Amino acid sequence: MNDAPPAVTAAVAALFGALVGSFLNVCIYRLPNRTSIVWPASACPHCRREIEWFENIPIVSYLVLRGRCRTCGQPIGIRYPIIEAITAAMFGLMWWFYGPSILLVSRLIFGCALIVLFAIDLEHHLLPNVITLPFIVVGFVFSWFTEPGWVDSLIGVLVGGGSLLLMFYAYLAVRKKEGLGMGDPKMLAMIGAFLGWKMTIVALMFASFAGSLFGVAMMAMRRGSMESMLPFGCFLAVGAGVAATVGPSLVQWYLTLW
Ligand SMILES: [Zn+2]
Repeated sequence: MNDAPPAVTAAVAALFGALVGSFLNVCIYRLPNRTSIVWPASACPHCRREIEWFENIPIVSYLVLRGRCRTCGQPIGIRYPIIEAITAAMFGLMWWFYGPSILLVSRLIFGCALIVLFAIDLEHHLLPNVITLPFIVVGFVFSWFTEPGWVDSLIGVLVGGGSLLLMFYAYLAVRKKEGLGMGDPKMLAMIGAFLGWKMTIVALMFASFAGSLFGVAMMAMRRGSMESMLPFGCFLAVGAGVAATVGPSLVQWYLTLW
């Protein structure tokens, strides 16, 4: 592997990523229903027939089957190949950027958690504790061996969780109803554990900015009220992705403006 050109190893990483994406689909489908992610085998949600191995090849199977179940002909969600493609791209790109390192492993695990949280929040308006809480610990453990370092990580957990918790209670006090879910502070604490406190602030600012922009655009197009818009966890996931990749350059650029 060491002598292979980077493009080849990145392609292998992407193939592996597609397989991981397939597993993330299982998590996204099953975690909100509180069912096991390892048992039973995957089945068509419409006719309940078990899915054969050749129907389970990431992206390829969806294209070959033209997005329909072989038995009942019901459409297979476009979400499946999209998640697989995004995960594949993430693995390929991160391998390219980081090379084999602890930071690579940390960022890949973090990225997978964000993909699952994004998809579940989008569909169910839910950020399951079974992902956010353990991954706060995972991020903190990684910080002992790689970026951002454990002090930065610990402050990140406190800043991330604390800031949104404060917003949660402030909103509750002013509007007398919940504007954020309790999952959002835990998710931002997880982001803090992996990225450190500075990039957590970048992620939160990006998420808030993108979220309000999206909300205003939706209202301008009269597509419902602020309440019916995309859940905040989706914006946090994108914000964290932005912070993890271009965050440091974004901060640099911002500081030159002053
Ligand atoms: Zn079927």
